[in-house]
Amino acid sequence: MNDRKINIEIIRSSRRTIAMEITRDLRVLVRAPFRMPDSDVQRFIKDKSSWLYKHLELAKKKIEMYEQQEKTAAKLTREEISQLADKALRVIPERAAFYAPAVGVKFGKITIRNQKTRWGSCSSKGNLNFNCLLMLAPPEVIDYVVVHELCHIKELNHSARFWSEVERVLPDYKEPKEWLKKNGNGLIQRMRQK
Ligand SMILES: [Zn+2]
Repeated sequence: MNDRKINIEIIRSSRRTIAMEITRDLRVLVRAPFRMPDSDVQRFIKDKSSWLYKHLELAKKKIEMYEQQEKTAAKLTREEISQLADKALRVIPERAAFYAPAVGVKFGKITIRNQKTRWGSCSSKGNLNFNCLLMLAPPEVIDYVVVHELCHIKELNHSARFWSEVERVLPDYKEPKEWLKKNGNGLIQRMRQK
């Protein structure tokens, strides 16, 4: 991207400050007050150029990751599903043990399931279930689901208190959450009907 000219849209409004924003479809917007002189706007853009390059790169990487995960998925073979389950049995208890002290909980049994409905669940006794398909998701997503279920040991609901607990442990949880929203169904489609 380095040499490519970046198209920046300048949007004037009655706002009082100037700000730069990258949209989900990688447009760059500069929101500026009506009365700010063009020269000031241009200077702001120039000052923000390293921020802009950095964040455009990050945003592009994120989109590439999404697209890669979205490519239509072939059904997994029984063999592949059993390999995923084996891997999940190694990875997930380790991640749960890593995060449990940060959440401040102890968990019970961990079960790995092949399911077409959910990524994880938590019983009132603190036993946790996880979907073996998580092994096809990026590590941050695995960690998010693990932390999500661990937080349910404290809060067995999706209240504001629950989400603030998730955020306390994983401040960047919104990205993996969004990833699952976007790509989760594609992954689930790879699971065979039992
Ligand atoms: Zn939940």
